[in-house]
Amino acid sequence: IYDSAVNKNISLNDIFISVKTTKHYQHTRLPIILKTWFQLAREQTWFFTDTDNRQLQDQTNGHMVNTNCSASHQRKHLCCKMSVEYDHFLESDKKWFCHFDDDNYVNVPRLVSILQKYNHQEDWYLGRTSVYEPVKIYKKPTNKLMFSFWFATGGAGFCISRSLALKMLPVASGGKFISICEGIRLPDDVSMGFIIEHMMKKNLTLVPEFHSHLEQMKLLIPETFRNQISFSYAKAKDEWNVVNVPGFDTRYDPTRFLSLHCFLFPHFKFCPR
Ligand code: UDP
Ligand code: MN
Repeated sequence: IYDSAVNKNISLNDIFISVKTTKHYQHTRLPIILKTWFQLAREQTWFFTDTDNRQLQDQTNGHMVNTNCSASHQRKHLCCKMSVEYDHFLESDKKWFCHFDDDNYVNVPRLVSILQKYNHQEDWYLGRTSVYEPVKIYKKPTNKLMFSFWFATGGAGFCISRSLALKMLPVASGGKFISICEGIRLPDDVSMGFIIEHMMKKNLTLVPEFHSHLEQMKLLIPETFRNQISFSYAKAKDEWNVVNVPGFDTRYDPTRFLSLHCFLFPHFKFCPR
């Protein structure tokens, strides 16, 4: 049966997958991505980092971009990276801009199939919120509510259609994204929500298949892994917040991403059979 709600014209090659990373994680987080999901989207995935590394450049076929942003977790420097990610997307010929963090596992086929439900020639901001109410901006000194907006958590990943990205061009391209971040003094993902919801007047569309480590990863059920777009992990003190998936020993695979990858794609060479 022909399903008119599904836009079969979109394929993996229409997606610009950008991953924010840093030299601090190049020996810990990057290798896990390169061994797993990156192998399913080698041509479409780009890494935005803050250093040069010949070996990683070779392993990714030149897909490491040195943003020349500082290597720090400060708002300004994270906004700097997001700004470069967005500008690189604009210069690409892709139909969708999808951002992820380097502690995300991206279920590549599912990302494609979900984007097929939306028209890239329309304005779409797809992601998942991590807060229960919108960000509220108050006027000083009266504390009168000026406006509020939602944003998609960067740590879960989000996607923006080309149509919407082009509308943002006058206010956000060529590094202007950084000025907006600085102006409202909010993190990169929140600033993205500000630009899209408040300035562009386009609403975030909730796509619950994106996941960040702000959720409890163990609550995800293996039967539904295949339907999810992204996963994450985090370690707080001695506790890991990780996907509960059978597979490799936790000493070898503490993040569970190797096991998750084998759960989804058991034919991979490194997977037990
Ligand atoms: N990151 C970065 N520079 C830094 C620290 C972090 O670019 O100095 C990136 C990191 O690679 C990741 C994202 O910012 O893609 C979020 O970092 P992390 O997971 O450490 O922190 P979280 O915000 O999730 O607590
Ligand atoms: Mn994180």
